[in-house]
Amino acid sequence: MRAEIVAVGTELLLGQIVNTNAQFLSEELAKLGIDVHYQTVVGDNRKRLEHVIRHANGRADVIILSGGLGPTDDDLTREVVSEVTGVPLVMHPPSLSRLKDFFERRGRSMTENNRKQALVFKGGTVFPNENGTAPGLAVEANACHYVLLPGPPRELKPMFRKHVIPYFRRLLPSEEVVHSRVLRFFGIGESQLETDIMDLIHCQDNPTIAPLAKEGEVTLRLTAKAASVAEAEALIERPEKEIRRRVGQYLYGTGDVTLAEVVVKRLTALRKTVALAESCTGGLVANMITSVPGSSEAFLGGYVCYSGKAKRKWLGIPASVLEEHGTVSEQTARWLAEKSRARISSDYGIGVTGVAGPDRVEDKPVGLVYVGLASPGKETVVKPLQLTGLRETIQVRAAKHALHLLYQ
Ligand code: ATP
Ligand code: MG
Repeated sequence: MRAEIVAVGTELLLGQIVNTNAQFLSEELAKLGIDVHYQTVVGDNRKRLEHVIRHANGRADVIILSGGLGPTDDDLTREVVSEVTGVPLVMHPPSLSRLKDFFERRGRSMTENNRKQALVFKGGTVFPNENGTAPGLAVEANACHYVLLPGPPRELKPMFRKHVIPYFRRLLPSEEVVHSRVLRFFGIGESQLETDIMDLIHCQDNPTIAPLAKEGEVTLRLTAKAASVAEAEALIERPEKEIRRRVGQYLYGTGDVTLAEVVVKRLTALRKTVALAESCTGGLVANMITSVPGSSEAFLGGYVCYSGKAKRKWLGIPASVLEEHGTVSEQTARWLAEKSRARISSDYGIGVTGVAGPDRVEDKPVGLVYVGLASPGKETVVKPLQLTGLRETIQVRAAKHALHLLYQ
């Protein structure tokens, strides 16, 4: 099934809002095994919207429109689809009473133009809107399925998950399921990973293997089509085994997990604790860890010691170390890791120091970062990194490298 996403809204064309609906819809449709061939953006203009819909009709089996279902004059999607398909709009009493309830509950009076939000396609499908006023709509015409969804993401997303996914499942051949497994890697670049498994990516299409690089990590999505989930999993198993054999040392998790979750889980299972001393990441490592519920079992606390003064006063790092080697140095990272561990009495201590940019520090290049790990009964490990990207990217990558030390 070929799909086209049509995002409607002049504010999208003006760059006032970002088309996050298209991103969300593309991701969800891929999970369903529906191929998105085009994403289009068009303003709130009757003629151009009509043109876009007619054009999409010639190259897609499903057209998903977001936005333009509101009560005002520039909300045109419903009417234009009705014109193009020739399917008339009719009043839908359950939607009308939902609308009345919506306004009553808020103590607001319903205006006449709100009534048009209860107009639906004759013989079509209605998706109730549990977070706003306009219901979603679907209609089949001209050998094409039209799905109309409200623009606000807080209305579109829950509606899609609850009502539109089951609608598409009914349309898809019932004997087929699409099942994915996501493998998550850290410490290997996308191009290296791709090179290492290039033959696997190219020599098969069930499952497909799709790499994606994001925020310093690489994921591989293996997607299989089969008669059942169990069969799809069996299809995925063989290439997954081979991938694990080749690049398994970089794999940190599967499915919907983060590096921080995996690390916290591991520390908790081992009944070990960690403390931090962060310079260039400014607390980002602590933030990543504490975003995991239950991390208090493993995380004792940390220092955000951004200045030399804080490093000296809080952690007792000798001025001579900072002067001789610099604040961005292997020695400083070692002190940060060891002192945070000693002062907070944790099992592990992590130290991070580096140049996040945009300017050089101590004549050291932007992206030079040292992450250190102090462990019980072991030599402290310090890893030098040369990271790329803008300040924020460098900070995120440095923080993930620091976390990853606890994984190895
Ligand atoms: P409303 O009843 O709120 O008017 P609507 O279905 O008519 O809903 P629009 O008027 O097109 O939708 O958009 C309403 C708001 O939803 C926009 O101001 C914007 O904040 C958000 N929005 C619309 N389209 C998108 C999109 N493609 N991606 C992200 N947000 C969007
Ligand atoms: Mg609107």
